[in-house]
Amino acid sequence: MKSIQNPTVWKRTMTQHTAAGLNVGFVPTMGALHKGHLSLMERAKAEQDLLAVSIFVNPTQFNDPKDLRNYPDRIEKDIATLTDIGADYLFLPSYEDLYPDNYRYTIVETDLSGQLCGKNRPGHFTGVLTVVLKLLLLTGAQAAYFGEKDWQQYKLIKGMAEAFFLNTEIISCPVVREDSGLAYSSRNELLSSIERRQAAQLFEVLSTYAQKPCDQAAESAAQELTGKGFKVEYLQQDEGRLLAAVQIGSVRLIDNVRITTFSS
Ligand code: AMP
Repeated sequence: MKSIQNPTVWKRTMTQHTAAGLNVGFVPTMGALHKGHLSLMERAKAEQDLLAVSIFVNPTQFNDPKDLRNYPDRIEKDIATLTDIGADYLFLPSYEDLYPDNYRYTIVETDLSGQLCGKNRPGHFTGVLTVVLKLLLLTGAQAAYFGEKDWQQYKLIKGMAEAFFLNTEIISCPVVREDSGLAYSSRNELLSSIERRQAAQLFEVLSTYAQKPCDQAAESAAQELTGKGFKVEYLQQDEGRLLAAVQIGSVRLIDNVRITTFSS
């Protein structure tokens, strides 16, 4: 695997491959890699000629400086993991490399980005969309892979790619979960063992209510989670999904489950 820090070198290298007729599959991440990330990479490897991964903990999408400071950094382990799975390229830019404009230019979405996770995280999706656009333009991949765990993020990125006529196809991949049902997340590392057991109840409750949809499903699920000690930031139905953000101690977790509808 070849690691590249410089955006110009990255862009030149990716362009050389695409000009030679090779399809690049791109997986952008913030590192501390887990099985959720690896599922995206395996899919990209299976579908494209080359796998390109980026690791960049994007400061512009953190509205809470403490959250950014606490974000796990496992770069040595991540490089070993990527080498093991046979990634071809790793992009490791610094803030200065990716933001020569010091974040003067941004991508602002004016509707969905203010809802759900966007309500309590002002500026979060502007940071996400801005960095993802930069990464997609630099990579010029055939396809980029995103997880359905971050459902709202996926929808916003897909919408941006359509709005700006990007050449890269945006592909979504299902949520990968631990045996307990807890969705893999880099933030799970910050949970104590007791909190981790509690965290698994998020999926349990969402799944229960997703199987018996009614007008009050979201409200009832929120009440149940509050009763179990979660601080519920939101719990909402959207486009056939039950989506939630909760806090356990100081750790914020998100998850979503597709609502099952039975026809009589
Ligand atoms: P992150 O490093 O958290 O920015 O995530 C990088 C990509 O991995 C995003 O597209 C996430 O949606 C995806 N991802 C994170 N956790 C999971 C998971 N448990 N299952 C599937 N995809 C995931």
